[in-house]
Amino acid sequence: MKSKSSSSRHVLVIGAGIAGLCAAIRLAISGAQVTVVEKNSEPGGRCGRIAADGFHFDIGPTILLVPAVLEELFRDAGREMRDYLTVHPLSPNYRVHFEDGTHVTLWREREQLREELERIEPGSYQRFLAFNQGASQMMDAAMSRFVVQHFDSVRDFASLATLRDLVRARAYTTVSRNVARYFTDPRLRMAFSYQTMYLGLSPYFAPGIYGLLPYTELNDGVFYVQGGLYEIPRALEKLARELGVTFRYETAVTRLRPKGTRVDEAVLSDGSAVRVDVVLANADLPWVYDHLLPEAKLARRESLRFTSSGFMLYLGLNTQYETLLHHNTFFGANFRASFQEIFNDKVLPKDLHYYVATPSVSDPSVAPPGGSSMYILVPVPHQTHKIDWARAAAPLRERVLSALEQSVAPRLREHIVTERSIDPNGWASRFNLTHGSAFGLSLTLDQVGPFRPKNRDETFGNLYFCGASTQPGTGIPLVALSGRLAAERIVQEQGIVRPVASATQSIHV
Ligand SMILES: Cc1cc2nc3c(=O)[nH]c(=O)nc-3n(C[C@H](O)[C@H](O)[C@H](O)COP(=O)(O)OP(=O)(O)OC[C@H]3O[C@@H](n4cnc5c(N)ncnc54)[C@H](O)[C@@H]3O)c2cc1C
Repeated sequence: MKSKSSSSRHVLVIGAGIAGLCAAIRLAISGAQVTVVEKNSEPGGRCGRIAADGFHFDIGPTILLVPAVLEELFRDAGREMRDYLTVHPLSPNYRVHFEDGTHVTLWREREQLREELERIEPGSYQRFLAFNQGASQMMDAAMSRFVVQHFDSVRDFASLATLRDLVRARAYTTVSRNVARYFTDPRLRMAFSYQTMYLGLSPYFAPGIYGLLPYTELNDGVFYVQGGLYEIPRALEKLARELGVTFRYETAVTRLRPKGTRVDEAVLSDGSAVRVDVVLANADLPWVYDHLLPEAKLARRESLRFTSSGFMLYLGLNTQYETLLHHNTFFGANFRASFQEIFNDKVLPKDLHYYVATPSVSDPSVAPPGGSSMYILVPVPHQTHKIDWARAAAPLRERVLSALEQSVAPRLREHIVTERSIDPNGWASRFNLTHGSAFGLSLTLDQVGPFRPKNRDETFGNLYFCGASTQPGTGIPLVALSGRLAAERIVQEQGIVRPVASATQSIHV
């Protein structure tokens, strides 16, 4: 490998997920040469899309929270996000349906929200305000303690100030217990606690701090990107290319070869080997340790806990259902038991709860005229020997479609003109997600902040990580931040400096 000045350092990013794209942009801004290799044919990873017969489906994320994180990235690149993406808040946020046929619609607008909450539980709006106030404190504590920070050791975290913030964040209790302090009606308790499922966590186990999720939705808003959330990676890829980042699709890294305490070479799926200066793995962190560099040691590997998975149906329909909003959640009779089944017993829940997105309600571009695109997510355990998806998928599909036909979508099956599905095995193979876990490593208290796998390997000094299973965590805003944290660290530690003038650049890959 020829010697290079620090300004010509090359970073190989493994994976074009949201985190990898955000990191690539920040590295390019800082003067690094960046190549992104992606095993699939398009950017986005879990935030990808399926296009079929005139229908567009977001594969994973459908809800964008805190778009300010992405806005900041565009601004740091000297651009405005609005020139790349049309992002707007939804109103209402979503509707939650209960097994008894009732529902509650959650609005950001306070007057409508007040009417809805009072209709379900008189007096509950005042208590919502108190809940909201508590969640605002959690938000401050979470952001300062767990999110926008590098953690190298527990010492970076342990202090009296941290302890104070953990108490303010109600980290010592669970989301369900915290919500029960404010609401009596079980429907409101469900409506204000199920958001932990965005992180693949049970509200009966998730630390109280995740009360910040409904807080964010009801104060900041639930956002949609015109064309679907897949427009986010498309826009990020466009920006990255403008900044000189190179992309290679349908190219997987199959092995990282170490030399001493550095990663020396990356072996690609075409059999070639390329020399590397710096590697930034956006591919799921545990998968990288298990498959690309078995010489490296991931602390506590055997005891790490993973989030749940999702059984997905993507349906192109030749009709539209006025009974459905853009975002809809359905709960079965036995809310608590279903979490026990998914997370502890690792079996399919007897009583299903599921989420349905019909983005065509707000965006006609995602379906042909007169039709609609329907995305169904059924929370299920991550891969386990107890569930054989070759047998389980078809009956589960029938259960969900029957339930929807009986509640809000009569004769649904007759209206399906195109259909795709993904089960935990599909998540595992499509994106190399360990155990097919949809959201990566759990964000339980013992796996956040300094207790989450770090964004740089302990032994191999030029191997970094970004994405859902490293710091700070999962979801679009957090993985975008993980890209920023990893890029900042690489720039600082690998001595990358912005070139004075555009010098001749040598690309390795
Ligand atoms: C069903 C579902 C619903 C979700 N809903 C929401 C939501 O509404 N809102 C929200 O904010 N978040 C949501 N999330 C979470 C969000 O999608 C993720 O946290 C985020 O997209 C993860 O991004 P990432 O960059 O960490 O990883 P990924 O998206 O997994 O990107 C990693 C990339 O690396 C590639 N790769 C893997 N191995 C290799 C290799 N060896 N060589 C080359 N490339 C490789 C993969 O193909 C992938 O493109 C959802 C997730 C799922 C699954």
